[in-house]
Amino acid sequence: MYSFSKLAAADPEIAQAIKGEVDRENSHLEMIASENFVSEAVMSALGSQFTNKYAEGYPGDRYYGGCQYADIVENLARDRAKALFGCEYVNVQPHAGSQANTAVQFALLKPQDTILGMSLDAGGHLSHGCKANISGKYFGVAAYGVDENGYIDYDDILRIAKEARPKLIICGASAYPRKIDFQKFREIADEVGAFLLADIAHISGLVAAGEHMSPIPYAHVTTSTTHKTLRGPRGGMIMSSTAFAEEHRIDKAIFPGLQGGPLMHVIAAKAVCYGEALKPEFKTYAKTVIENAQALSKGLIDRGIKVFTGGTDNHLLLVDLRPLGISGKEAEDELDAAGVTCNKNAIPNDTSSRSVTGGIRLGTAALTTRGLIPSDMETIAEAIKLVVSDRTDAAKAHAKDMITELTERYPLYENVE
Ligand SMILES: *Cc1c(COP(=O)(O)O)cnc(C)c1O
Repeated sequence: MYSFSKLAAADPEIAQAIKGEVDRENSHLEMIASENFVSEAVMSALGSQFTNKYAEGYPGDRYYGGCQYADIVENLARDRAKALFGCEYVNVQPHAGSQANTAVQFALLKPQDTILGMSLDAGGHLSHGCKANISGKYFGVAAYGVDENGYIDYDDILRIAKEARPKLIICGASAYPRKIDFQKFREIADEVGAFLLADIAHISGLVAAGEHMSPIPYAHVTTSTTHKTLRGPRGGMIMSSTAFAEEHRIDKAIFPGLQGGPLMHVIAAKAVCYGEALKPEFKTYAKTVIENAQALSKGLIDRGIKVFTGGTDNHLLLVDLRPLGISGKEAEDELDAAGVTCNKNAIPNDTSSRSVTGGIRLGTAALTTRGLIPSDMETIAEAIKLVVSDRTDAAKAHAKDMITELTERYPLYENVE
């Protein structure tokens, strides 16, 4: 099992870097919307002896001996995931969200088929048909964006779908602060005879807690990561009806199609995460994540800072920095120096260069795990304003003090031993 002191004795260089990372996480406010902090139970499962085990295949049908405990773990992970999301079928083996999407694409499409996904610039993900990704290299692609107010425009998507005739429509995003209507997406998919893949990588914790509409009744297939709002180990998962999974051989697309042996230690940690998300406390957590994001958004707007779409319905917001004359890249660097970790992000329909961008993306999933509440978001909004709007040395120093006060008030991973 994971033991810092044993690692430090065996490999001081790596231990030093891990210690540095723990200190960094402790001394900064983590506002990257795709990140979170796992529990010590999840981390213990990750650091367990299951990392030793080969278990190619699926429970009851493995290519190696000695899989009786691997089967227990994977069956528990599956049963808990099914209970959590209300789905009939789940595959918990994808190494990450991208692998889950790639496997679904290879299960459902032939190379000449077209994917219709949200464009990267509008908040979509690489694996939804981006030219630099395998999804954009192997398949034809078409893309939809957002309207001038920043919202998904379902009529426009239908228009594009009728023109592009995609075989697969992907909904779900990495930087979309509003609700997604999966039922409307399914109606569009049915109208053009396409499959619908809902990728809930970012919002799966909110979906599990009933704080966002579930795609399970509407999408042919749903993918997710397990490490974002769901607060589990890094990994991916695929859900659908049993009939759909069997017809399209989803299990086979993951193994042996795309992957070899499953990461059994990660699957054990996924099972722990699903178990945690099934508890009533997780509902409170997800609710607070959204309250925090909305409080932060209001705090920024009250201070004259532009929030894209004027707010948020979920765990993230996009700050439009263009009126302030500071780029996303500069803001990311300056905020990091003040103790706030976030990432630069394109504002949809923006013309700023992609490497610099005109905005930043802020998320509250990790902050909420740490214990921060809406009244703390006022403090953070003020600190961000001091850094990106006032921008004097005195303002930045004051912001750093405010952030340090918060990180000390809400300690994280105190006992690394
Ligand atoms: C994060 C994300 C993924 C998967 O990311 P991995 O880093 O491959 O786990 C997939 N889709 C969306 C929309 C995402 O935001």
